Amino acid sequence: MKILKIQTLRGPNYWSIRRHKLVIMRLDLEDLAESPSSEIPGFYEGLISTLPSLVEHFCSPGCRGGFLSRVLEGTMMGHIIEHVALELQELAGMPVGFGRTRETATPGTYQVVIEYENEQAGRYAARAAVRLCESVIATGTYPADELQQDLKDLREFAADAALGPSTETLVKEAEARGIPWMELGVRAMIQLGYGVHQKKLQATLSDRTSVLGVELASDKEGTKQILRSAGIPVPRGTVINYLNELQDAIDDLGGYPIVIKPLNGNHGRGITINITEWEQAEAAYDVAKEVSKAVIVERFYEGSDHRVLVINGKVVAVAERIPAHVIGDGKSTISDLIEETNRDSRRGDGHDNVLTKIEVDRTTWQLLDQKGYNLDTVLAEHEVCYLRATANLSTGGIAVDRTDDIHPETVWLAQRVVKIIGLDIAGIDIVTSDISKTLREMDGVIVEVNAAPGFRMHICPSEGIPRNVAEPVVNMLFPPGSPSRVPIVAVTGTNGKTTTTRLIAHIFRQTQQVVGYTTTDGTYIGDYLVEPGDNTGPQSAQLILQDPTVEVAILESARGGILRSGLAFSACDVGVVLNVAADHLGLGDINTIDDMARVKSVVAEAAMPNGYAVLNADDSLVSAMANRASAQIAYFSMNPDNPLIRSHTQRGGLAAVYENGYLSILKGDWTLRIEQAVNVPLTLGGRAPFMIANALAASLAAFAQGVRIEDIRAALVTFQASTEQTPGRMNLFNLGTFHALIDYAHNPHSYEALGGFVKNWTTGERIGVIGGPGDRRDEDFVSLGTLSAQIFDRIIVKEDDDTRGRDRGEVAKWIHQSIEQTRPDVHCEMIFDETTAIQAALDSATPGSLVVILPESVNRAIQLIEARNPVQVVTPTA
Ligand code: ATP
Ligand code: ATP
Ligand code: MG
Ligand code: MG
Repeated sequence: MKILKIQTLRGPNYWSIRRHKLVIMRLDLEDLAESPSSEIPGFYEGLISTLPSLVEHFCSPGCRGGFLSRVLEGTMMGHIIEHVALELQELAGMPVGFGRTRETATPGTYQVVIEYENEQAGRYAARAAVRLCESVIATGTYPADELQQDLKDLREFAADAALGPSTETLVKEAEARGIPWMELGVRAMIQLGYGVHQKKLQATLSDRTSVLGVELASDKEGTKQILRSAGIPVPRGTVINYLNELQDAIDDLGGYPIVIKPLNGNHGRGITINITEWEQAEAAYDVAKEVSKAVIVERFYEGSDHRVLVINGKVVAVAERIPAHVIGDGKSTISDLIEETNRDSRRGDGHDNVLTKIEVDRTTWQLLDQKGYNLDTVLAEHEVCYLRATANLSTGGIAVDRTDDIHPETVWLAQRVVKIIGLDIAGIDIVTSDISKTLREMDGVIVEVNAAPGFRMHICPSEGIPRNVAEPVVNMLFPPGSPSRVPIVAVTGTNGKTTTTRLIAHIFRQTQQVVGYTTTDGTYIGDYLVEPGDNTGPQSAQLILQDPTVEVAILESARGGILRSGLAFSACDVGVVLNVAADHLGLGDINTIDDMARVKSVVAEAAMPNGYAVLNADDSLVSAMANRASAQIAYFSMNPDNPLIRSHTQRGGLAAVYENGYLSILKGDWTLRIEQAVNVPLTLGGRAPFMIANALAASLAAFAQGVRIEDIRAALVTFQASTEQTPGRMNLFNLGTFHALIDYAHNPHSYEALGGFVKNWTTGERIGVIGGPGDRRDEDFVSLGTLSAQIFDRIIVKEDDDTRGRDRGEVAKWIHQSIEQTRPDVHCEMIFDETTAIQAALDSATPGSLVVILPESVNRAIQLIEARNPVQVVTPTA
């Protein structure tokens, strides 16, 4: 077997609208192409002994063992690899269930589609499945250690890409509320929502967390001072810089017990608590000094550590934190007990998991020493032995939920504290022996206020009720009822996507909103070009959706991008499908026009249930997409009597039609006239029918999004097919005695459309300068030739600079032959170089004629015409 290609999809796609995370492997079975599994000796037995859990795959029989019975009966290797790749991920702790396998037009070559949870892991699983099956075929088995290694690697991919525990719960909560999110790839930042509605997070720092608040909280002494002057109980203590100040500081506190800690520290580093004598104090001073220049000397307060989490001014959770410890059983040594405690699967390394493994360090030795213990000491039954002085989860501590126990006065105090410090999300550390009593009663104190507090102790406390502390964060950023998405209008079709996308953008601009849009020409925000280039893939769409100024997104969604990686958004508000025609067939395993319709249908199907699929009622492949869409349907048509339009509007549906010279919206029984086609410059005075169709689609999409008729009208009459607004789309120039038209038509369907306009040219000769892109099929050039012969009186066939893998002259020859066969009377010559061909046509143009140029390079063609000082025709009268 040979892996020809592996692609990763990340959005709604050809295979599934709902399952966005898919890997597609193009696989050549080679010598296995003719061998179903039943004919490979020992394969079935080898497979079940390697992966016995495959018995859980139902597959088409729909029951346990269903897939294995298919293997026994005989199924193709691609299908088996699909199931193996899914199972490998499952075994590595990534549950995935969706897979598909299809033979391509190349016999023996398959597309194997596999769902993934982690992108890298999905690609790896696809490769590993091929390796595993090859080994079972050749040797009847797959070595157990290799399988273990594969699973280990898969788990590592997942762990490497995993978000931190706090971030993870925040994005889950966002998902539950239907708020889109994305990783920004810098500083572990996450974006929630799209465009102008977005909010950013970095773990539990939000984009509204005040820098002043963060800085104040991280200054322990400053925090204590400001809280003390507000009458809030904080530890008594002083800051010293030299060892010779230590004794005075201790005396000021009234003696021992004391705590010594670095002024600027965190995670419990450099802290020694419950110091009861001078030697300890000296040692603790040195330890603290290693972390920070200045050292805090504080009274030691009895009690345990409590973390009070305050979000958006409200106490939302309280956890009591208990330092790492073990409890004796009368038999085991401390060392054994630590080992056993660490076996708990919830304990990972650092912040990886809900709890952290206990590690023996300097403080542990000190604590044991104080009691005269060491690691080999056997603890009495029920004896608690602390291994750390502080309760940080990251040093092996545990957390017990106390949210329901906190005294109301302490709630009030905590809420005041965060307002004084100025934090939207804060964790307050309180030391008290009983959180259900007031601090005064217990002599409790607030030791510290933390910005960016960890959520894991509240989400997964070791004891007590888990608290959904992500909800108040998401509710703070997106108060219920507030928007998180910007409207997305996605446009697809074989022809007219760019023109329609631009027109929709122009319509939305009338509503004074900032419009972000992407086309095959470039990415635009507002009035400016952000980036030129063919920007119809997911990256450009991401750019728009990540832009904090964008209020509406209009995205040209071309076939290539949909096939390569799926749509760049999980759902759109309006999905427009203009037409489906034969173009790009034979590329990307899309061979028939019905396949192509399924590709474009992704855009219609991705429209949200309360949104709209805007479909062409005159194109049966497009109108049929209504059956697959879950959104409401709106149809457009050049014919008001189209039966589909009639029945749809009779049922109260929304439509747009060309009637009596007007572009009109139909809403149930009502006709809302937008404008006469002759007043819409894009339609070249109503003479370019396909442009009327594009304008209807654009108007309908905008209307479905609530844009007023007046705004649509204002846009239609000001949008011009000029070289500035739509370069290469029906740009008509008056060159004195004759006219020239530059257009981008490059497939039979667009030639036909263009023919609809050229036919209406009656003042003189119709001259065509034509060609075709080399990556199309031979039969496509034949139809280009046939169509050109029907449209033009005289033709110059030229070639693209980039022959896309063909020999120079090959494409031209196909087109030329086909013209001669269709209409021998048409004068036809071949000039391969595009510039020479255009100049020749312009030089030989007869009075009253129309020279139609279909260039490879639109800019170059426009320059050639502009050198002849034309008057651009933008509002021709009918
Ligand atoms: P973290 O990053 O975990 O919050 P930190 O380095 O910022 O730790 P503190 O929060 O000041 O340090 O102290 C850590 C822990 O030490 C406290 O949560 C508390 O349990 C204990 N502690 C600190 N100061 C005192 C004190 N004066 N009396 C009693 N215990 C204290
Ligand atoms: P591409 O796939 O190259 O990005 P596109 O779909 O974005 O093309 P446009 O750039 O808007 O399409 O138009 C390209 C050409 O297609 C136009 O110049 C015109 O000749 C033709 N065309 C535009 N709209 C239609 C239509 N509705 N039906 C048929 N042909 C059209
Ligand atoms: Mg602290
Ligand atoms: Mg385009």
